[in-house]
Amino acid sequence: MSERLQKVMAHAGIASRRASEQLIETGHVRVNGKVVTTLGTKVTAADRIEVDHKPIQKEAPVYFLFNKPRGVITSATDEKHRKTVLDYFQHQVSERIYPVGRLDYDTTGALLVTNDGELDYLLTHPKHEIPKTYLAKVTGIPNATDFHRLETGVKLDANHRSAPAEVRLAKKMGNDNQNALVELTIHEGRNHEVKKMLQAVGHPVEKLKRTAFAGLKLADLEPGQWRSLNKREVRDLW
Ligand code: URA
Repeated sequence: MSERLQKVMAHAGIASRRASEQLIETGHVRVNGKVVTTLGTKVTAADRIEVDHKPIQKEAPVYFLFNKPRGVITSATDEKHRKTVLDYFQHQVSERIYPVGRLDYDTTGALLVTNDGELDYLLTHPKHEIPKTYLAKVTGIPNATDFHRLETGVKLDANHRSAPAEVRLAKKMGNDNQNALVELTIHEGRNHEVKKMLQAVGHPVEKLKRTAFAGLKLADLEPGQWRSLNKREVRDLW
């Protein structure tokens, strides 16, 4: 998540927002080594900010596992004023937190929320192939060929195929077996990837839940609830 430079400076206790603006305009502030004098400049937690060559104090890192409900968007703000993930942390967490990666508006489940830009980078960069496990309720019951295709890779769109995934039938559902629960673990995070994968084998997703992210399991966290990670969980993320 990016924020205006003067807001970040004020939050770090450098000066008031107005005084921070003056420091920026008068060339006292560097972002990643370069002097910045434009007031609207946006920065993220990953940017190195210095005032008169002194790095501004970073907030102590905080880490939360959140169970995102349906109908909530994974971004800090929304023009349509829909509920956002950060609304659930308001008035309880003062750090400048943001979600790591994203889940669709109608997807529920495990979402890591932090103010640690380095960890965010590590967990979202495709080369790190972080595992993400989903439980998808699909129309119909995929057969052995479908599972094989999902495991080896299917065409997602004109330019992309999915990478190999672990897939299993978790449950058959409905009186007439009209639905199935399919568990998939993927190691990349393309837009709507799971929905596209299952659509590609003719079994569209009706409901989607992420049950684990980077080894963090949702367990008994209810939708809308969050908890802090313990030290060991944080260490295991790196
Ligand atoms: N894949 C999807 O299709 N949607 C999500 O929200 C996450 C993964």
